Amino acid sequence: MSDKRAILAIDQGTTSSRAIVFSLEGEPVALAQREFTQIYPQPGWVEHDPEEIWESTCAVMTEALDAARENGWQVLTTGITNQRETTIIWDRVTGMPIYNAIVWQDRRTAARCAMLAAQGHEEMISARTGLLLDPYFSASKIAWILDEIPGARARAEAGELAFGTVESFLLWRLSGGVHLSDATNASRTSLYDINIGKWDEELLALFEVPAALLPTVCPNAGKFALIAQGLPGGGLPITGMAGDQQAAAIGQACYRPGEMKITFGTGAFMLANTGDKAVQSAHRLLTTIAWEIEGVRSYAMEGSILSAGSTLQWLRDGLGIIENADDSEDMAKSIIDTGGVYMVPAFAGLGAPWWDAEARGAIVGLTRGTGPAQIARAGLEAVAYQCADLLAAMKADGIVPKRLKVDGGMTKNAWLMQFLADMVALPVLRPQMTETTAFGAAMLAGIGAGIFESLIDVDARWHEEASFMPSIDAAERQAKLEGWNEALGRVKTG
Ligand code: ADP
Repeated sequence: MSDKRAILAIDQGTTSSRAIVFSLEGEPVALAQREFTQIYPQPGWVEHDPEEIWESTCAVMTEALDAARENGWQVLTTGITNQRETTIIWDRVTGMPIYNAIVWQDRRTAARCAMLAAQGHEEMISARTGLLLDPYFSASKIAWILDEIPGARARAEAGELAFGTVESFLLWRLSGGVHLSDATNASRTSLYDINIGKWDEELLALFEVPAALLPTVCPNAGKFALIAQGLPGGGLPITGMAGDQQAAAIGQACYRPGEMKITFGTGAFMLANTGDKAVQSAHRLLTTIAWEIEGVRSYAMEGSILSAGSTLQWLRDGLGIIENADDSEDMAKSIIDTGGVYMVPAFAGLGAPWWDAEARGAIVGLTRGTGPAQIARAGLEAVAYQCADLLAAMKADGIVPKRLKVDGGMTKNAWLMQFLADMVALPVLRPQMTETTAFGAAMLAGIGAGIFESLIDVDARWHEEASFMPSIDAAERQAKLEGWNEALGRVKTG
């Protein structure tokens, strides 16, 4: 008889909530997904309705569990992975949020962050949290809600309110009031000292966040809580939680020092495991907790590209030169080069390692020979050039990469993966598993429930689907990167 035991992973992302049931061999056996509303109250503001996050999560849990059980799968435990930094504050008695979730992309607290930077606090914040002083992280979002919602600050100080990132909010709701977070999510709040693994009193004072709001921080695998009866998955334990990029790194078996992955979605996130050392970047990369299991804490260096898949979306919806993202591959292949055209997709500024919020995009090097194919190819190439810049910054910080594992929607573009290998001068490895983020959460849940022994068990479940080897010489690479740098120089404001 085949083993029909399985693990449920909840993947609560920025644009959709998903639930995937994995067999213990790591095969997805049921999947449900639901998109939810993006709320843009003002330019630069992004919110989610926490009730929609909750309802969509419950709906996909029910759908995936029903489908798996109908096929005879016995689900043993649950893991949660989530969009990171997104901030929710709720009433401890009613469980009702006092304001919408403020999403990680939201820039409303830029002035508060700039003020703290002008007062000279960034160095201390970086040393303790591994992060930059930026609206991206939760701390300034918490303060905004407390200052803007009448009575909220006093209620927070009186212990009547709870703060959580999305995993913490979902755990509270699913368990009927257990208030916990995990080390990876806590490391994105800008309130957590990643060196010692504690909420930091000085940071709480600096950002004006009362300690009474905070969840207890747990390792990534262990017994968090039971799902309350009457809810989807009622009675199941929750035994793993981690932020989405850390979960993807685990799902890609990047749990050893030196291993690295990049996830290509709307944006792209590169994480390099640095083992037990929290490496401080001299190039504006982030240092973050990769995972914490049974008293062992591992760190990662992280860099993000703001426009990856969104460049293709713009080529399709903004410019109208491709019908769908898949077209870009044939267009890129139809020409031998872009004829000197470079695109810098700084639609919303530039991310790591530049962090230039004011920069705006450009297409340079146009001639009468430039057509849609050159522009589409330049858009794809730009994604690889940005990866090369991130990797160069990581190397300058002492990372010695041997290969790059890739996942996310863009990785099915084989032409782009080859160009990426050429530009980063490393083997690029694409796994069979396309659901690495949810898979990482399932692995953590399996470890927390005692089904798996350790992260080493990921290895047996990670299978290469394709690899792309660098195929151009250093001079050709150098020439292309110089052209890119010249284009980049035209859009940078600093
Ligand atoms: P997210 O979870 O951020 O929505 P996904 O992992 O689903 O992202 O990836 C979707 C992104 O991948 C889209 O932005 C899309 O433009 C891009 N994409 C999809 N297919 C291709 C392709 N063949 N070539 C290049 N980009 C692609």
